[in-house]
Amino acid sequence: MNIMLFGAPGAGKGTQAKYIIDQYGIPQISTGDMLRAAISEGTTMGMEAKGFMDDGKLVPDSTIIGIIKDRLSQEDCKDGFILDGFPRTLAQAEALEELLKDLNMSLDKVISLNVPDELIVDRITGRRVCPACGASFHVEFNPSKVAGKCDYCGGDLVTRKDDTKETVENRLVSYHEQTAPLFHFYKDKGVMAEIDGTKDINVIKEEIFSILG
Ligand code: ADP
Ligand code: AMP
Repeated sequence: MNIMLFGAPGAGKGTQAKYIIDQYGIPQISTGDMLRAAISEGTTMGMEAKGFMDDGKLVPDSTIIGIIKDRLSQEDCKDGFILDGFPRTLAQAEALEELLKDLNMSLDKVISLNVPDELIVDRITGRRVCPACGASFHVEFNPSKVAGKCDYCGGDLVTRKDDTKETVENRLVSYHEQTAPLFHFYKDKGVMAEIDGTKDINVIKEEIFSILG
């Protein structure tokens, strides 16, 4: 099953991706997590991406398309994958079409988590993430069982450098200008399922499971 989670920054894609992994045993492909890993490894690509990420701007398409090509070609994607945070531009969506064609694959479902901008700032500023496994929590809306520790792997939770009020505003601008138009691209393909992303996390999880079957 090849799935894409679509939505604004903070819409809940990473949170739901973890439940889909547990239920369906397919890997999450988060370009944001891959870029953060490259930054912590100190690679040239990571260093180039960092400035864009810190400013809340999109990393250039050529970089992103390169990392996705490598990742989707790996063995563990053969039986399915969850795209999280990719594609974010029309050029990325078109490159994905080409790549999937070359790999003899297609997208089965795009799940759009719809959340209005006014809820996003509180979600993002209260987010705490696990750098070790990418899990995402919220100090108020989805606290970890032990404060500051990841429920999945026990890692120490941190606040992402770009999860500030100022940066969120830039990220929302990038989202509306460059990413939101992709909604129609996928709707026209007939693979789009829309979910009210303002509901309770567990309610959304069950809705996604019933869509995926
Ligand atoms: P994304 O991956 O789309 O950027 P996350 O999954 O990291 O978003 O969620 C952003 C923040 O909002 C996290 O702190 C998360 O715990 C919280 N969150 C996710 N889903 C919900 C929800 N349905 N209701 C309230 N808070 C949520
Ligand atoms: P995320 O973890 O999805 O919130 O992404 C964090 C940041 O990484 C974004 O604000 C962008 O700077 C960058 N990024 C992640 N995925 C992409 C992408 N597909 N295209 C461009 N930039 C990306």
